[in-house]
Amino acid sequence: MKIGILSLQGAVSPHLDKLSELGVRGHWVKQPKDLEDLSGIILPGGESSTMLHLLRKAHLWEPLKLFVQKKPTWGICAGAILLAKEVVSPQQPSLEALDVRAVRNAYGRQTESFIERVKPSVQWMDAEPMEGVFIRAPRFETLGPQVKILFSLDSEPVMLHQGKTLASSFHPELTSANKFHQFFLKLCQESC
Ligand code: GLN
Repeated sequence: MKIGILSLQGAVSPHLDKLSELGVRGHWVKQPKDLEDLSGIILPGGESSTMLHLLRKAHLWEPLKLFVQKKPTWGICAGAILLAKEVVSPQQPSLEALDVRAVRNAYGRQTESFIERVKPSVQWMDAEPMEGVFIRAPRFETLGPQVKILFSLDSEPVMLHQGKTLASSFHPELTSANKFHQFFLKLCQESC
């Protein structure tokens, strides 16, 4: 199974490490041909407005938009913002794969980053609270009817699932758990 990680900017290598812990080699995605033969892609955390600019510059915007409609995609923080149907604070274009509004930087600035336990919804794996690292995280609002909440923080949704799309506002690649990556790999396997 070939898993890609959008590698134009942001927290790429922690995902490569997680995947290799699980016996899967991650592949850098920097240009349209890198999307070929992928079973799924991770859009990492970073700065979504910079990613937007770089995606256009690399001629990846349109191919990625098609890819995320067909194949499993997991967006983390900035990556989740890229996937949202609507982005505010400020407004910006997006891939529109996840029926949700993302409010950028809603949990505060870089210096207000925090680690908090996030609570799984009952149907998620073996359902125990997990550590969540929040860094200038977006808030998810106005979830569409097909969007399932996988994890919450104080009753606010922080990890979502809709069909082949996963999104988390926190950074699972920065903690020791690899359950989240396992879950994504399972989605990729099932859709292969
Ligand atoms: N605040 C960033 C943005 O708007 C996301 C931060 C992150 O990915 N940790 O894109």
